[in-house]
Amino acid sequence: MRTQVVIVGSGPSGLLLGQLLAMAGIETIILEQKSKDYVLGRIRAGVLEEGTVGLIEQAGAAARLHSEGLVHDGIEIAFEGSRHRIDFKALTGRTVTVYGQTEVTRDLMDARAAIGAPTVYEALDVDLLELESDRPVVRYRKDGEACEIACDYVAGCDGFHGIGRRSIPEDVLRAYERVYPFGWLGVLVDQPPISHELIYVNHRRGFALCSMRSMTRSRYYLQCRLDEHVEDWPDEKFWEELTRRLDPDVVGNLRTGASIEKSIAPLRSFVAEPMRFGRLFLAGDAAHIVPPTGAKGLNLAASDVAYLSRALIERYASGSGAGLDAYPEKALARVWKAVRFSWWMTQTLHRFPESSGFDQKMQAAELEYLFSSKAAQTALAENYVGLPY
Ligand SMILES: Cc1cc2nc3c(=O)[nH]c(=O)nc-3n(C[C@H](O)[C@H](O)[C@H](O)COP(=O)(O)OP(=O)(O)OC[C@H]3O[C@@H](n4cnc5c(N)ncnc54)[C@H](O)[C@@H]3O)c2cc1C
Repeated sequence: MRTQVVIVGSGPSGLLLGQLLAMAGIETIILEQKSKDYVLGRIRAGVLEEGTVGLIEQAGAAARLHSEGLVHDGIEIAFEGSRHRIDFKALTGRTVTVYGQTEVTRDLMDARAAIGAPTVYEALDVDLLELESDRPVVRYRKDGEACEIACDYVAGCDGFHGIGRRSIPEDVLRAYERVYPFGWLGVLVDQPPISHELIYVNHRRGFALCSMRSMTRSRYYLQCRLDEHVEDWPDEKFWEELTRRLDPDVVGNLRTGASIEKSIAPLRSFVAEPMRFGRLFLAGDAAHIVPPTGAKGLNLAASDVAYLSRALIERYASGSGAGLDAYPEKALARVWKAVRFSWWMTQTLHRFPESSGFDQKMQAAELEYLFSSKAAQTALAENYVGLPY
């Protein structure tokens, strides 16, 4: 087989890249190690920046997003018994859209199927070869048979555990990491959300987040210890603990029920540089991970894809590789700003097990300053709605 670009991974970054390239007449094959149902069953992000929405529009997959997505003008932050609203629209003129990653994935898969572009699900043992030549080769196994694709470029859109980043030699790759001393216990429930906007809670018992996927499906998170397991958290215990961390005036709106998904995610910041090796380009979680506090993971995957798709389109349209050469630096400049914002949100809103009295006073001062300063609120708002690209 031969194609122009092999994309490894059919998460949001791989699917979006495939769609944007297809719109420009560039051929791709997506290789995905899991089944389609498995990919669609993963519950992850849910807050989209305007830039991400714009890219999904460009990809021809935004019809359902526009009819079912919830546009949010701000968030609330609860601290020491009171809630403070950060009004994104008033501060920046911009908004975010709540629409589940699962739905984004489904819409992009449908759009890909509609144009007849190929995705190979359950492609096992993907191996990337000859990346420093101008004819990379990708090998994999499908239904027990060995397969091989010759291509011009490879896009590693295969997430944190994928083969893309691992194909870059160790002496070339540089990794930067911070692992946080807690995780997020998440519960998805078919009940209306507690409020029409997200509520971030800094409570002495730990962080909590009241989020949603639609007007009938809510997503709640609790900061938990890293040694805890989902089995330690039957639904009743989860709702009791959430109730303790919420203000009495919103608790009355909490609709509990049987969870339809429950999971624990560790929190980490991670960046791998460079995002290119020969003809391999990394995008999304393959190159970087952020803690979900700033709602940036999926949005960063989208901005990488914006830069990479433009560079590949330029390469095929004019023969110029200048955009591809500039890709790692351009993408990383935005990545590091989002890593900083996600780290700041995490630092400011969680209770750290080993924090000193001084650390706690600093956190409280940071929040008091935020609640009293329009400049500080604007800084939060412009990062949350997404820096330009
Ligand atoms: C549990 C969890 C919860 C999250 N919650 C949030 C949130 O609330 N808010 C937020 O903004 N972000 C969240 N994120 C982050 C967000 O989901 C990711 O940033 C986003 O999925 C990145 O998309 P991606 O396409 O780059 O990677 P992925 O979505 O990870 O997709 C990578 C794809 O590559 C496939 N793959 C991996 N290895 C191979 C291989 N060797 N061969 C072929 N295919 C392979 C995988 O099966 C997968 O389908 C969460 C992430 C996790 C893991």
